[in-house]
Amino acid sequence: MADGMTARETRPPDAPARYRLRIPGPAEVPERVRQAAARTVLNHRGPEFRAQLAYAEAGVRPILGTANRVMFFAASGSGMMEAALVNVVAPDAALLVVVQGQFGERFEAISRALGARVDRLDVPWGESVDPQAIADRIRHISYTAVVLVHNESSTGVVSDLAAIGAVLRDSPALLVVDTVSGLGGVEMRQDEWGIDVVVAASQKALMCPPGLGLASLSAKAWEVVNRSDRMPRFYWDFRRALSSAEKSETPFTPPVSLVGGLCEALAMIAEEGLPQVLDRHRRLSAMLRAGGQAMGLGVFPRAPMLSSTVTVFSVPEQLEGGQIVRAMYDRHRTVIAGARNRLSGRVIRIGTMGAIDEATILTDLAQLEDVLRHLGWPVAPGAGLVAATTCGID
Ligand SMILES: *Cc1c(COP(=O)(O)O)cnc(C)c1O
Repeated sequence: MADGMTARETRPPDAPARYRLRIPGPAEVPERVRQAAARTVLNHRGPEFRAQLAYAEAGVRPILGTANRVMFFAASGSGMMEAALVNVVAPDAALLVVVQGQFGERFEAISRALGARVDRLDVPWGESVDPQAIADRIRHISYTAVVLVHNESSTGVVSDLAAIGAVLRDSPALLVVDTVSGLGGVEMRQDEWGIDVVVAASQKALMCPPGLGLASLSAKAWEVVNRSDRMPRFYWDFRRALSSAEKSETPFTPPVSLVGGLCEALAMIAEEGLPQVLDRHRRLSAMLRAGGQAMGLGVFPRAPMLSSTVTVFSVPEQLEGGQIVRAMYDRHRTVIAGARNRLSGRVIRIGTMGAIDEATILTDLAQLEDVLRHLGWPVAPGAGLVAATTCGID
């Protein structure tokens, strides 16, 4: 080639052999879903694709716990967070943003970027917001919305949305929730809990590649979204998305192949049964926590509701989280996560979402044992495996 590079040099490498993607998203995509996403690309306004979009909506609804229309977008999770806000926020609106970790901070940053008046309700990282604290805040200030993350992936904490929804039920404020890393692995009952705007994305417990976002809105939310004085919006305009969704279409070209993948993932969830899927997440995350603790790692979150999709361990003081992350990759080609925030070095995070089974967790623990010992941290042989398989979770 002109610049002297060979085709061999310019083509980036594939995943290495034995590669295991064990971060809290994107999660490993099962073979069935990858095959489905590799099928013929369809006309996005043709009957075949409309049938897929309708199937995807019907499959996602029970996972969301809603009878609402579900709108799909070409977006990462953060795009959906912004979409949620541009549709409910007027230029002078006041928002109460609950910050209990990195993704709460992102919601705050997006709110500020849009020029909203932001009140921040801070929760120590690792704890979850007390619904009463929200009740106290909304008593004196009229907020357009209370904004929070359901499953905080930086800390492994789940918010008590049933209780928070009850607090907001008789208030004019909307409840806007990011369940990007929860949906499909942590229970969500949008209608029963009174959640007005729910956004999520494909690459976590929904077992798809990244790039497909979704949103579901209550009637109370639509009253606000339909006002003409909201933020400037075009691509993210939920009103336009709704009128397309009513015809099983999207306003603009959707990620057609990812919708095909999502249909397959939803079929897998339906075959296993949603209660069984949620229970598997609960069981496997408890196994991982028990195994990690038996090897001397700490469970970082102290909240009453721990995440079933993201396990966050605190690292012994003698070690550094990044060392463990690097050694897991160097020695095993297993990718786990550290933290890119104030917890950097102090925690490691492992995804327990999507297409995982007991063998996944036992492999994680065996490899962690090897890595911890390699780094000079003493672990009794098999301690994590024994604890995981005898932790009494069934
Ligand atoms: C992964 C994640 C997101 C989305 O991140 P993107 O990189 O934009 O897809 C948003 N919120 C939470 C809680 C997440 O875990």
